[in-house]
Amino acid sequence: MRIVFLKIYSQNVRKMDDDRICEKVAKCPIYTGILEANPVLIQTYKNLYCENGKSGREKCKRYQVSSRVGYSPPDLLPNSQVSVEDIIRKMEQKQ
Ligand code: SF4
Repeated sequence: MRIVFLKIYSQNVRKMDDDRICEKVAKCPIYTGILEANPVLIQTYKNLYCENGKSGREKCKRYQVSSRVGYSPPDLLPNSQVSVEDIIRKMEQKQ
């Protein structure tokens, strides 16, 4: 009985952790490229957007743009002040 409870509990905790973290973290260039030399800024973005649940990632411009068109520019920051529409328009002009 105790083992079953622990198994269900650990599955639920893992699901909660997965829900808190953006599914794009592993491939997001914010972590692998342009901000690699700035760990403080990376941690700030993680706290505000990437590891802050659904409401956090839905505020991220990278996430918003990627959700609309399938990808986002590699140099786009999560807190960009440019609107999603303008970012997408600019991407389309570059094609
Ligand atoms: S920066 Fe945005 S898209 Fe990239 S992992 Fe964080 S929340 Fe997801």
